Amino acid sequence: MSRPVVTAAERRRVVEAVPTGLFVGGSWGPSSSGDTIDVVDPATGEVLVAVADATPADGLRALDAAVAAQDAWAATSPRHRSEVLRRAFDLLMQRRDDFALLMTLEMGKPLDESLGEVTYGGEFLRWFSEEAVRVSGRYGTNPEGTGRTTVLHRPVGPCLLITPWNFPLAMATRKIAPALAAGCTVVVKPAELTPLTTLAFAALLAEAGVPDGVVNVVTTLSANDVCEPLIRDPRLRKLSFTGSTPVGSTLLTQASEQVLRTSMELGGNAPFVVFDDADLDAAVEGAMQAKFRNVGQACTAANRFIVHESVADEFTARVVERVRGLRVGAGTDDGVSVGPLIDDRAVDKAHRLVRDAVGRGAVVETGGHPVDGPGTFFEPTVVSGVAPGSEILTTEIFGPVLAISTFHDEAEGVRLANDTEFGLVAYAFTRDLARGQRLAERLQTGMLGLNVGVVSNASAPFGGVKSSGLGREGGAEGIHEYLETVYVLTPDPFAGS
Ligand code: NAP
Repeated sequence: MSRPVVTAAERRRVVEAVPTGLFVGGSWGPSSSGDTIDVVDPATGEVLVAVADATPADGLRALDAAVAAQDAWAATSPRHRSEVLRRAFDLLMQRRDDFALLMTLEMGKPLDESLGEVTYGGEFLRWFSEEAVRVSGRYGTNPEGTGRTTVLHRPVGPCLLITPWNFPLAMATRKIAPALAAGCTVVVKPAELTPLTTLAFAALLAEAGVPDGVVNVVTTLSANDVCEPLIRDPRLRKLSFTGSTPVGSTLLTQASEQVLRTSMELGGNAPFVVFDDADLDAAVEGAMQAKFRNVGQACTAANRFIVHESVADEFTARVVERVRGLRVGAGTDDGVSVGPLIDDRAVDKAHRLVRDAVGRGAVVETGGHPVDGPGTFFEPTVVSGVAPGSEILTTEIFGPVLAISTFHDEAEGVRLANDTEFGLVAYAFTRDLARGQRLAERLQTGMLGLNVGVVSNASAPFGGVKSSGLGREGGAEGIHEYLETVYVLTPDPFAGS
């Protein structure tokens, strides 16, 4: 039996501290309909608390507040914005345990991983507090020598930020921090399944000195009805979305009407390629991280393990041994490394994908089934011998299922890795430096983990190619998603002198 590491009183304290209203113009209040959303603990199926369910009118009120606050926020000094973000970082670090527990309760991931997300998510606050004061332009003479060009950057304006449930804190900070650093105001629409972390974070931002109206949060069960009028409103200047590719595609269609600037962090189908010369210890370690972090519910989760035929048996045997040692349970329990999936649909999907692969000849090495009892758990699973045409190769699994197929030579490995509409991240394990460089140039991906199983880092440009999205978050690039570039031409100041 695993030992609960948090008491019922601690859970209550953390949940009861979250403001449950809409956060608009610096005030908390109910939705205009009075309706609410039940937030459920996926480990138990119990309702944690109810939060406001915004109407379209509430969404427009939030945009009004963001628009009203825009000019004053843009006029603050970069140093001021930097220090507000830095205070937010410090407050978050002081409250890391509470934020981690809140995330585990509403989303399910093990507490250690939630603590890791607080560190990762917090880094966006620190990184963009540092970037806020480093936005520069350029000045130069035009080639003809007849004028001077000045290039400057200014905030895009009010933004709508839509986030998913799988990383409730980090997906919010990855957008809010660069937007605020650049001088933009925002309306945030978190996922209906995990609104609590964003609401608690909005309260923290206010405490850190973010003025009224600069950050507004609307929680709703009617995402389309609330967001579409904002996207079609000419006062909105930017949409940043993280979520599935089909929803991203719908939002792009809506955004096309007013040629709205967009950033799209969409779905993935990451290949994890193990070459015959790989350090297998490192490859197995990387596989465990790339597959089982967040119970496989990550856009960066390795989806297709493509292993050289000469090392496939050994790799499979080693991962199976490790996977059998994973402990499944509530994320708040001691020693648990695999928490619940987010809901029943996620469990059914994992099960369906395993059955489809087995129907086409794959072998279940371990796991393969939903776990009985309360909560939405699926056994950590390894399937080998996955055949071409299996649905698991083309669909984001979003669950703890490690699917292995084999390849014969580098060309085939690259071809299989690229055989997807997605291109967010790829992982490759090889000791051959030149091969690593060839992969960096030939894999159709926005990010490559070369001999590592985790690539996410606030200092790096995160994002994908193909159907995985548009734009980059984090790194030096991240703040430019929220800045316009303006070019000014002036005459040659020496003309006639
Ligand atoms: P999702 O269903 O696309 O939802 C994402 C967000 O969009 C939620 O807040 C959702 O609200 C909202 N939404 C849904 N339909 C909408 C609409 N018509 N108009 C406006 N908003 C709408 O995705 P998810 O299941 O939450 O997240 C998992 C997906 O996100 C996976 O595909 C994963 O790969 C991707 N993801 C990508 C990245 C990345 O950086 N590339 C990072 C994390 C996750 P509701 O919750 O109310 O439905």
